[in-house]
Amino acid sequence: MDAYKHILVAVDLSDDSALICHKAVEIALQSQSSILLVHVTEFIYQMSTSYDPLFYPSMEELAVDEEEILKLSQTKMNDLINALDVPGDINLNNKVLPGIPKTEIVRLAEENHSDLIVCGSHGRSGFELLLGSTANAILHHAPCDVLAVRTRKNRE
Ligand code: AMP
Repeated sequence: MDAYKHILVAVDLSDDSALICHKAVEIALQSQSSILLVHVTEFIYQMSTSYDPLFYPSMEELAVDEEEILKLSQTKMNDLINALDVPGDINLNNKVLPGIPKTEIVRLAEENHSDLIVCGSHGRSGFELLLGSTANAILHHAPCDVLAVRTRKNRE
């Protein structure tokens, strides 16, 4: 089997994210691959097909909130990276962006020529499912191999 060269790690920034990242780092150390950590921040109006400006803030107000929330997400991402203590010889980058997680993760994997996506079997949204909905969508649409790391709650 060819060694993986470009690993994309999808993190929802929940407590299980460190576990998922550690798995990716283990693989990266064996195969000297680069790691791109990705978090996609989803906003309510992106989830809803019936966004109604009468009941929600204006697009200008939303944009301010969006910026603040993205900043918070980036801070959480930085904290996660610092806590991981990744060896210096691993090429580690990260991206925090707005959008629909499954769509952006697959798009970024294509754009970055990722040959492996590492995600959790379950995240914030998917504990009642056999496989979380984001994980399931990644598995079905990824342009490359996918490793779904069994997350803690799923094993309890
Ligand atoms: P879910 O399918 O939502 O239960 O989540 C399963 C896994 O998909 C998580 O453990 C993450 O690896 C990934 N994931 C879910 N939401 C996001 C997100 N907003 N950004 C990046 N990855 C995510």
